[in-house]
Amino acid sequence: MLLEVMKFGGSSVADYAAMRRCAMIIKASPKPVLVVVSALAGVTRKLMILSYPQTTKAEKQSIIEDIHTRHNAVLDQLKDTNIKIKLTELNTQLQDLSEMLAKEPIPQILDELLSLGERMSSLLFTAVMLQEGIDAELFDVRLVMRTTSTYGKAEPVLPKIKKLCAERLKPLLKNKVTITQGFIGSDAEGHTTILGKESSDYTAALLAEALDADHFKIWTDVAGVFSVDPKLYPQAKPITQLSFGEALELTTFGAKVLHARTLEPAIRGDMQCYVGSSIAPQGGTWIKAEIKDTTPQVKAISIKKDQVLLRIERGFKTSNLNFLETFLEILNKHQIEFDLLSNHGLSTTLVLDDSLKNWHQKSLLSEDLLDELKYLGKINLSQGLTLLALTGQNIPQCPKIKNILTETLKDLRVDAFYYGASPYSLCILTELKDEKIIPTVARLHQQLIEG
Ligand code: ADP
Ligand code: MG
Repeated sequence: MLLEVMKFGGSSVADYAAMRRCAMIIKASPKPVLVVVSALAGVTRKLMILSYPQTTKAEKQSIIEDIHTRHNAVLDQLKDTNIKIKLTELNTQLQDLSEMLAKEPIPQILDELLSLGERMSSLLFTAVMLQEGIDAELFDVRLVMRTTSTYGKAEPVLPKIKKLCAERLKPLLKNKVTITQGFIGSDAEGHTTILGKESSDYTAALLAEALDADHFKIWTDVAGVFSVDPKLYPQAKPITQLSFGEALELTTFGAKVLHARTLEPAIRGDMQCYVGSSIAPQGGTWIKAEIKDTTPQVKAISIKKDQVLLRIERGFKTSNLNFLETFLEILNKHQIEFDLLSNHGLSTTLVLDDSLKNWHQKSLLSEDLLDELKYLGKINLSQGLTLLALTGQNIPQCPKIKNILTETLKDLRVDAFYYGASPYSLCILTELKDEKIIPTVARLHQQLIEG
């Protein structure tokens, strides 16, 4: 379909001035536009803090007031007074849901509460677009974004989403700029769900796929994907093109510029994905199936903290195949996803991403999980590790990589090393702590990317 799907992240919709910058990008599109917005920067984190048992009543009240103030600052710039009534309704829901959650801390109520950030931002964003002369209309994404009922991290139900988009969303797109919410969905019973932390990029990709778009654009606060997080190392270089494989592994292994699942719909639907800055909309990165330059090279470095190396030394109770089958069944039952696994004779190791433990206020490593795994063999856990990933093209064939690695990493304790399994990345699991991360990343960047 001839359509432009655009997603504006939290910093792109942080306040009235930021929203007005988005209006210029929308106006420049010659095609019909579907806009997906996140909550105002920082709001979802505040909503999440409301749910923590240790948050005091006074702290909750101050968070609620702060959220009101942030949204009211945008409201104050608007001439349309109808918006005020709608925003007040959402503010009342915020107060009520926060009280309900304190009495009954259940995931369904939490998802409803978390959805308010996007529901408020999209309401205000639509009003700002109208005021800027754009014929915009607000659309509740829950009418089409059907998910499972796994609250906190619901799975999209793709055939349903496609059908609902064709029926309910496609007809609207021809006439107006449609504004909708990222991050949220709805299960078969009509309960609000969320697709996981910072998943608005994923929403945009899913909607683009369902509507047969040939690309989608992620507008954020950086001018595309860089060779390293520019906040970590300012000499980071912009990357103009990445292949799906490279970008998928880069985002999986720590580059938070895109939600790690964003590229799944892109790959399925062969849709190109653009990443650019809503503050300075020149340049940017295009992610696509094929790229021209296929020279083996490291293009980016990323890190991911709070990783766990789980090693099981299996006994000889069962064959290796049976062991693996049971092991994966247990992980599946506990909804543990992982990206790195190796199986060596008696030992099986797995890297678990526990970086959301502060967000969810609980670790992936529950007592129940560990109790079940103990039956399979001897368990060894190393927690608080850092994953350092080098991503690019044909990494195992990269000249000088081995020498540079031994030179740069010689003072590091390496807990696991993943090399050769993927053409797109090389991963090192290490004890690397904060004070050593930046110098190590800088040295690798200078030798592999700048040099
Ligand atoms: P949004 O709110 O728009 O979704 P995010 O904060 O989720 O924005 O993502 C943008 C941020 O991702 C950047 O500000 C940057 O600090 C971070 N980032 C991490 N790795 C990279 C990378 N390789 N290239 C660009 N940005 C990166
Ligand atoms: Mg993001």
